Amino acid sequence: MLFLQGGASLQFSMIPMNLLKSGTIGSYCLTGSWSEKALVEAKKIGETEVASSSKQDNYRYIPSTNDTDWSKDSAYLHITSNNTIYGTQYRHFPETGQLPLIADMSSDILSRSIDVSKFGMIYAGAQKNLGPSGVTVVIMRKDLIAEHSNLPTMLDYSTHAKAHSLYNTPPTLAIYILSLVLEWVKEQGGTKSIAKLNEEKANLLYKTIDQSDGFYQGHATEDSRSYMNVTFTLNNQEKTKTFLSEAKEHGFIGLNGHRSIGGCRASIYNAVPYEHCYQLTEFMKNFQRRDK
Ligand SMILES: *Cc1c(COP(=O)(O)O)cnc(C)c1O
Repeated sequence: MLFLQGGASLQFSMIPMNLLKSGTIGSYCLTGSWSEKALVEAKKIGETEVASSSKQDNYRYIPSTNDTDWSKDSAYLHITSNNTIYGTQYRHFPETGQLPLIADMSSDILSRSIDVSKFGMIYAGAQKNLGPSGVTVVIMRKDLIAEHSNLPTMLDYSTHAKAHSLYNTPPTLAIYILSLVLEWVKEQGGTKSIAKLNEEKANLLYKTIDQSDGFYQGHATEDSRSYMNVTFTLNNQEKTKTFLSEAKEHGFIGLNGHRSIGGCRASIYNAVPYEHCYQLTEFMKNFQRRDK
């Protein structure tokens, strides 16, 4: 486990710099704008391929990915486990066998239990579920860490691994607060309890959407729905606007969807209590009732 800086975005570059040897290919599953960004950076470093993508369907679902989708020279398969803008999330991870599976878990780490042994590497910017911005957590299989004399020292995983994340001054306050968040997760009963609660929170909202007779429409297909970001629209744009401004008056701030898909997005990370999700569903039902 490494504590680094530069956000998840720097990992988009460090991964290919460290793991994409010449003659190998970085394989990417495209499920939204974060994975697109990861791919853009990898292309600057070496050869890449798109193993799977749902871009043509506006990233409404998580595409299935299996061993016919990546080349035999692949160095790793990269996925984005939760997609904040589109509101999709992997329920099952690709089975990659010997091929290292790398996951950007920035927006759902610690939201559920994960079998870490299935991954070559997991990374996450802290600021959604782990703590404040400024620290990036990397969980990496030891055999993937090698020294690269051609790389800038700070961009070489082995530098940080050898120095136990103390090669230079670490973001101490961010790491300290991360430790408090981990204590809090333990007090909640650990990731199993957190996962159950997250599922209940998300299902409150999805149920409201599904039982609205099309008044609210979810963006993600049912099997790919995220428990962290619930994305939906109303049946016309004018109404969406009214909904958002009235929601704001009622204290539901930050409900606007990302500009690339519009509509509404309820981000319900670990820190959001069940009651807030319940209150939002009450508001949604009331808004629909008043519309008639
Ligand atoms: C938020 C987010 C990022 C960006 O993280 P930074 O730490 O700001 O670079 C990257 N990937 C995913 C999946 C995210 O949700």
